[in-house]
Amino acid sequence: MAKERGKNNFQFYSSKLNGLSSRKMELENSLRKALEQNQLLLYYQPQVEIASGKTVGVEALIRWKHPEYGFITPNEFIPLAEETGLIVPLGKWILHQACEQNKAWQDEGFIKVPVAVNISVRQLQDDDFVSAVGNILKETGLDSKYLELEITESVMYNIERSTVILNELKKLGVKISIDDFGTGYSSLSYLKHLPIDKIKIDKSFVDDIINHSNQGAIVKTIIDMGHNLNYTVIAEGIETDVQVNFLKKHSCRIGQGYFYSRPLPVEEVSEFFK
Ligand code: C2E
Ligand code: MG
Ligand code: MG
Ligand code: MG
Repeated sequence: MAKERGKNNFQFYSSKLNGLSSRKMELENSLRKALEQNQLLLYYQPQVEIASGKTVGVEALIRWKHPEYGFITPNEFIPLAEETGLIVPLGKWILHQACEQNKAWQDEGFIKVPVAVNISVRQLQDDDFVSAVGNILKETGLDSKYLELEITESVMYNIERSTVILNELKKLGVKISIDDFGTGYSSLSYLKHLPIDKIKIDKSFVDDIINHSNQGAIVKTIIDMGHNLNYTVIAEGIETDVQVNFLKKHSCRIGQGYFYSRPLPVEEVSEFFK
């Protein structure tokens, strides 16, 4: 019985698999083309010092402006780029673009803050990542103290290698922050050995402040821990003044979210600073 059905099942599954992988290949091809045809661009979201209201940084967030489908969000194509390895060249393009833009803003004279760039683990562990970052800084002329790399807790899976790479990056003078802090695999004993400057409290915990699910207990705990370990603490995904007041009261230094500003296209960033 199983044998009889086996063949059909196999055909069923293999055609389903082929269907999936050809869709993936199609997406991969169009992503390659997107890179060549300038369909990819970076938006920038301000990071604001909560107490003073001063903008102290911007985070670069990639957008894909597809000629047919309109805007495609990074959550839809970054995982694919990671899976196929395309994230390595794509990531270099992103870094170059962000550094070049930040240098241009600084030369214009009124925006002088670090730019934060999201880095996938796959990129970080690529053999020439550190030298690529060094080259991009040289090529664009951006002072390394104005570049911050956002990595996630998934670097902990290969802690030895990650430690070596992060230390080399620190020697270049760039800053390291942990994105989506609290959502991933994280061991505090490892964390403390990594050369980290900043942690970003994930939006899900910042949401808890207004959902009253735990009176923001996790947020408070992360802020205190961050301060004890000498990290700068930033809260992500702030949408309301209730959240801002809570974060201010508990001495969270920096905030980012729609409350302050959505991610903006390049042309609007200068306006925001003015
Ligand atoms: P992330 O790095 O944690 O970025 C924060 C995300 O939250 C962004 O979504 C941002 O637009 C959104 N956001 C910010 N404030 C608010 C808010 O107040 N409310 C809500 N609902 N959302 C807010 P986005 O731009 O769609 O990016 C999603 C994720 O894709 C990023 O999460 C990051 O993991 C990844 N990503 C984005 N750009 C890049 C990139 O250049 N390279 C890599 N490797 N990953 C990227
Ligand atoms: Mg980020
Ligand atoms: Mg995040
Ligand atoms: Mg994320």
